[in-house]
Amino acid sequence: MIQMKNVSKIYTIGNEELYALNRATLTINDGEFVAIIGPSGSGKSTLMNIIGCLDTADDGKYLLDGQAIEDYTEDELTRIRNFKIGFVFQNFNLLPKNTALENVELPLIYQGISRKECRERAENALIRMGLSERMDHRPSELSGGQQQRVAIARAIVTSPSLILADEPTGNLDHKTGVEILELFKELHANGNTIVLITHDDGIAQKAERRLRILDGQVTEDTAS
Ligand code: ADP
Ligand code: ADP
Repeated sequence: MIQMKNVSKIYTIGNEELYALNRATLTINDGEFVAIIGPSGSGKSTLMNIIGCLDTADDGKYLLDGQAIEDYTEDELTRIRNFKIGFVFQNFNLLPKNTALENVELPLIYQGISRKECRERAENALIRMGLSERMDHRPSELSGGQQQRVAIARAIVTSPSLILADEPTGNLDHKTGVEILELFKELHANGNTIVLITHDDGIAQKAERRLRILDGQVTEDTAS
């Protein structure tokens, strides 16, 4: 699904060049659950943004489903970001004035699906996340763990083949983080490909494979 060869991303700050990614090479196959682990500043978010087609590499090759990323049209990339990939972020990124149900419906409304089907699918996603009693709550009325479960419901409601999660447990206490990881494991068991970014070794151990990033390079690839 994801193939990267010698991918570099360079930021120019003043007259200094900073390699956020420095010839990173990796392959992630359909159906894998991979944790990308590394310290702060090692290039994890940059890597996730490139994998998720939110940003582009300055050098190297990125193939998504066998096709070079530069060969996709802008429209195709928008479709990939909206329908093929489900994003989960550290700070949940929920709309504060909308209910859990409305937040989860949103990606489907963008797809032009009927109101009735949007509602049904959003309700089902929230039920899967154990939030049947919380659908009409606003984010401020939910705990951090519940907010992240709403965000995961929003990520899966479009049935994406790939879920990209950037430090999804970073704002949660340990116990809640472990519960969120169990949800990702269930999604994986149901066939989703999951790429999870973390700086937490304990969290990374729950994935079936770990890629360690250091100074913009993949330095270790271990399967459990
Ligand atoms: P991580 O997610 O592992 O913390 P990042 O991918 O966010 O790492 O960052 C990798 C390196 O690139 C860091 O040194 C960071 O400061 C730098 N960096 C990231 N984004 C930018 C940017 N927009 N402009 C300049 N430098 C950046
Ligand atoms: P961090 O990795 O510092 O915790 P976030 O997880 O909030 O930051 O975001 C990671 C990256 O994804 C950032 O570069 C940000 O610009 C981008 N991003 C955040 N939210 C969205 C979104 N809703 N859609 C697209 N890109 C986003």
